[in-house]
Amino acid sequence: MNRKKVIIIGAGPGGLTAGMILSQRSFDVTIFEKAKNVGGRNAPLYLGDYKFDTGPTFLMLKPILEEMFKEVELDVDKYLSFKKLDPMYRLRFVDRDIFVYSDRDKMKKEIVNHFPGNENGIDKFYEIEQKRFKRLFECLSIPYLSYLNVLRKRFLLAIPHFALGKSLFDILGNYFSEEELKLAFTFQAKYIGMSPWECPGAFAIIPFIEHNFSIYHPIGGLFKISEIMADVVKKFNGKIYTNTKVKQLLLDGKNVKGVILEKGEKVFADEVIINADFGYSMTNLVQEGVLKKYSKQNILNKKFSCSTFMLYLGVKKKYNIPHHSIYFAQDYRKNVENIFNNKIWTEDMSFYIQNASVTDPTVAPEGKSTIYILVPVPNKINCEINWEKEKQFFAEQVLNTVVKKTELKDLLSNIEVKKIITPDDWANEYHVFAGATFNLAHNLGQMLFFRPHNKFEELNNCYIVGGGTHPGSGLPTIYETGRITANLISKKYSIKYKQPTN
Ligand SMILES: Cc1cc2nc3c(=O)[nH]c(=O)nc-3n(C[C@H](O)[C@H](O)[C@H](O)COP(=O)(O)OP(=O)(O)OC[C@H]3O[C@@H](n4cnc5c(N)ncnc54)[C@H](O)[C@@H]3O)c2cc1C
Repeated sequence: MNRKKVIIIGAGPGGLTAGMILSQRSFDVTIFEKAKNVGGRNAPLYLGDYKFDTGPTFLMLKPILEEMFKEVELDVDKYLSFKKLDPMYRLRFVDRDIFVYSDRDKMKKEIVNHFPGNENGIDKFYEIEQKRFKRLFECLSIPYLSYLNVLRKRFLLAIPHFALGKSLFDILGNYFSEEELKLAFTFQAKYIGMSPWECPGAFAIIPFIEHNFSIYHPIGGLFKISEIMADVVKKFNGKIYTNTKVKQLLLDGKNVKGVILEKGEKVFADEVIINADFGYSMTNLVQEGVLKKYSKQNILNKKFSCSTFMLYLGVKKKYNIPHHSIYFAQDYRKNVENIFNNKIWTEDMSFYIQNASVTDPTVAPEGKSTIYILVPVPNKINCEINWEKEKQFFAEQVLNTVVKKTELKDLLSNIEVKKIITPDDWANEYHVFAGATFNLAHNLGQMLFFRPHNKFEELNNCYIVGGGTHPGSGLPTIYETGRITANLISKKYSIKYKQPTN
């Protein structure tokens, strides 16, 4: 049989998922990855003997990852050992710590302790959000290539659950009355780089997903998932070339014929899948003037997620703080406004710390640990911060805040190695448009039919996977982008696959 040739630009979670499925279905898959390791934002970051996840540290909705492996007749649990985290994380407010459990009884007790009178809200949350999740998630596993998709029965049934006109914060007001408790169920808007007060109410499915399915840590780090996916691509005879940057799409009019590599080599294919960040790809991989809907100006007019300022610390001590901790700014709402609207850096910051060594002995040498600090910050659009000039100063400010607000009082004297990533680094080294780490924002005007389509609207034989297309950013939905695209290409060549039920 004449195997159809598919090129994938980028070995991030989206590209690897598509690569796994298509190579198992006998397509001739070649992945070009510009970095030295696979994984993209989900790649490993090595500092001496310390191993960090570059980006994702929360694995939510593990059943979706399991499904991706089932698509290729494999069992992900045979490749990786997953540790369920419960409590899932600790939230630190100005005057109290709240532990968040996926065990409903334990969560209820925590609410009784801190917010008496609000405990029944959790039952209402489960009851209503379960229905929303069922209806909405069904809509996320299919492509939206035409308006007609929204006339399908499954979409029509989902419409009441979109909570149109309501923000995530509004929705949580239906269950709880206390501000901090509402924040405990809405700060998750940050996972898609949005403010809880602007994030559509439909995303109440994110806290529901956490509480219902819990969160996991694969031993070794989340980057192991990308590494295993790359092994699966190769197992099915797919090829992955790292350190190989794609310069441009090879076009014949509107038909994509393959790619041009950095040194000028042309590589031909029947289909090309773009996994590199959407905004970056539109503005770099296609000659100016070719694209209309996604011209540079139109890309700049879109809404993007926030960025992150990162510190990765290898420390010569073990700390007994939880695997995941989130620290809220004193004035959280102001902090969110400063990130999304005022676009400034402020000393009153919120931050997240991952202390993976408390669960996973493999990430640091014995007696030592890895401390990953993430500070949500503005993306680069209309932001005047000079990250290169300010980064050491900001890093010091973050470390001082961490020492002040956490148990890591002697952190500074225990740091052996350190790496900083700023929004500029995301943009320049990771090719993330505007350093918007969580991609295009997920406002209703940029979702479903209105998000860049899995089958690219402007060019033929071209598909998009990753956080910039439907259904969106975050590992489980990114895996879905890979599967949806693999199914679209399979359908084009009449290769049988399991259809999502309508
Ligand atoms: C700091 C941070 C924390 C996050 N935390 C979580 C979390 O806890 N849970 C969660 O579910 N999600 C999280 N995410 C979001 C999301 O899951 C990840 O960003 C994910 O890795 C995005 O996958 P992707 O496939 O869209 O793109 P990427 O991971 O960016 O992959 C794109 C790939 O394309 C390559 N590439 C770019 N340009 C070229 C070129 N010209 N030629 C060849 N290759 C190219 C890149 O090197 C990269 O490998 C986080 C993201 C960040 C940044």
